[in-house]
Order: sequence, then structure tokens, then C-alpha cells
Amino acid sequence: MILILLGPPGTGKGTQGKLLSERLQIPNISTGEILRSAIQNQTELGNKAKSFIDEGELVPDDVMIGLIEQRLQEKDCQPGFILDGFPRTVSQAKALETIFERAGLTLNHVISFELSAAKIIERLTSRRICRVCGKDYNLITNPPPTDNRCRNCDGEIVQRSDDTEATVRNRLGVYEQKTKPLKEYFNRKGQLKTVNAAGSVEEIQHRIAEILALN
Ligand code: AMP
Repeated sequence: MILILLGPPGTGKGTQGKLLSERLQIPNISTGEILRSAIQNQTELGNKAKSFIDEGELVPDDVMIGLIEQRLQEKDCQPGFILDGFPRTVSQAKALETIFERAGLTLNHVISFELSAAKIIERLTSRRICRVCGKDYNLITNPPPTDNRCRNCDGEIVQRSDDTEATVRNRLGVYEQKTKPLKEYFNRKGQLKTVNAAGSVEEIQHRIAEILALN
């Protein structure tokens, strides 16, 4: 199964992608997570990406396309994969199509996560993550333990540098301008499915499972 999770930041793509990854036994490839880990490890990629991420801007297409092309060649992608956060522009989508054609791969579904801007801002500004393993917490719906240490790995729980209100607003503007046109792009190809991303993690997982006929 090859899936693309599409939607504004803060709609739960990462959370749902991880759950689907366990359920389908295929990797969830989050380009945001790959970039954050590159920044933490101060690699060349991380140094290139840092200023864009901190401002809520997109990392240039050529960097992202090269990164995903390499990642998809890894062995764990053979049974299929989930893309969380890629493509984010029409040129990325076109490049992905070429990569798929060359590799003889077929995209099964694009799931578009739908949520109001007010709810997105509330979710993102209350989101916290583990600095080490990336596990998600939320001050309102899933508060971190009182010692602020991750339940999975004991890492420190922090706010993402791009989850502050000003950067979140910029990220939403960038989404509207550069990523939202992808809905029309995939819709025209008959590949777009939409999911209502309001509700509990379990409810949304159930809705996605229905779309994918997993229930
Ligand atoms: P995310 O974790 O998906 O919200 O991504 C965090 C940040 O990483 C984004 O705001 C962008 O700066 C950058 N990023 C992640 N994926 C992409 C992509 N496909 N194209 C460009 N920038 C990206």
C-alpha cells in the first residue's frame, strides 16, 4: 500500500501515520521528522533546512525531492509506505510521480485531513514533542508527565521551535498558497479522499480505516 497524507500542519497526520504504519507494517516517512533529526545532528541537510523551518517556510523543492528519492530506495519501503508531509508543492508531486513511474510503483490513496484554522492553531500551540524520539504530547488532550520526561524514552519534552503562534500562522499561509493546490491536483486524478480530522485519535483512525477498507 502506498499512501500520501495531505493537509495543513496540526491536523494529526503524524499521529495517524504512525498508527497506520504499525497496523499495515509499512514505514511512515515524515519529511518534517527527517529534517528535525538532521538539524539535531547538525548534518549538511540540517544546516540547509534550519532557517526555513524556524520561519515556517518550505525547504526548497530540490532538497526535498533528492531526500525523498533516496529514502524510497531503502529496503523497508519495498512492501509500501506512508508519506507524511511530502509532497507539499505541485513540483514535488510531479517529481514524485516521475519517481513512481521509474520504479513501477502505484499510488493507492491520498488522504486529505480537514480541520478548521481555529482548531489547528489551538492544537499546534499546545503541542509538545520528545526531543529524542519525537513522540507527540499535547498540553490539553495528552499532557506530558510532570517531570517532563518522555514515557517512551525518558527524553526531554519540548515545544517545537516552529509551533509558536506567529510561525504557526505563517505555516498556515504557506499551506494555503503552496500545498492546498495539491488537493485539486490529486482530485483531478481521482486519487483524493478526505477525512474529517476533528475528534479523538481513535475516531479519526476508524474513519481512515473505513476509507482504506481495513475495518
Ligand atoms: P512537519 O513536521 O511536516 O510540520 O514539517 C515541519 C517543517 O519542515 C515544515 O514547516 C517545512 O519547513 C519543512 N518541511 C517538511 N516537509 C517538507 C516538504 N515536503 N517540503 C518543504 N518543506 C518541508
